[in-house]
Amino acid sequence: MKIRKFSKKPLDISERIGAKPVVCYPNNNIEEKNLTILHIARKNLSKKNEIIIPPRDAKTFQVKKGEFFRIESVEGPQVGDLNLFNLNNLNEKFYSGKTRALYGTHLSVGDKMFSSFPYLRSLATITWDTLDWYDYDEDGGSVHDVIGTRCDPYTSKLLSGNDYHYCCHSNLTRALVKEKKLKIDEAEKIVHDVLNVFMLTGFTNDTKQYFMKASPVRPGDYLEFFAETDLLGALSACPGGDCGSEHSSDVAKCYPLKLSIWQTNEKYLKDLDTSEISNYDRSHGID
Ligand SMILES: [Zn+2]
Repeated sequence: MKIRKFSKKPLDISERIGAKPVVCYPNNNIEEKNLTILHIARKNLSKKNEIIIPPRDAKTFQVKKGEFFRIESVEGPQVGDLNLFNLNNLNEKFYSGKTRALYGTHLSVGDKMFSSFPYLRSLATITWDTLDWYDYDEDGGSVHDVIGTRCDPYTSKLLSGNDYHYCCHSNLTRALVKEKKLKIDEAEKIVHDVLNVFMLTGFTNDTKQYFMKASPVRPGDYLEFFAETDLLGALSACPGGDCGSEHSSDVAKCYPLKLSIWQTNEKYLKDLDTSEISNYDRSHGID
């Protein structure tokens, strides 16, 4: 935080401040024709199956390459924390930091869920967002962030001194242990920073601290993705509920989330550009 300042301003301050921002990662060259194709394909979907994620808990799900999946609000406003893995290689997982560097603080239609190094490819593309009308509000807040990591028992313990076992980090760990038969240590190490689905967040104007507000999501709203490879997903219904008051406790009113998987006819996908693992040679300058 840049609240307390101990150093004197330099004499040449006018030369050092006021430079124009330059976008770090211009992403024009990763925009391609896929979204138009996917928007035609999504008009021809049939539901394959669905699961309900109970409040303050998580479940895993599998999606095949070429299928769509939706995270849907049911019963009441509820935030979801999403992890994504390559089903066949759990070391390849969603990389929220690089996705943020490419697309900004919050994701919506057309944005890709990039995977970790050394893979760095799109695991899934967001194809529909019933909350895209929210845009950014006057506080700089928006929905579906990649800035907030996930609620976890370690930070909760640090700040409150309490042990709380139903944070998203623990819910995701528990789901991987119970449903994928991973050892608890193995599972916890692959849980990663999430896409905060439906969560309304931003950074405060004065101190630039992470803030949350009650989510504008309502039953029937959904965020839809297209799977670009076979995926294992894990979704937690955050103990913060709509995240309008507090998380990491049993205080907030929580609701379930619905996860549904949808298929389309292959003929709609035949002209898609496929998502390939990075072809960087990985020599890192070593001869
Ligand atoms: Zn959470």
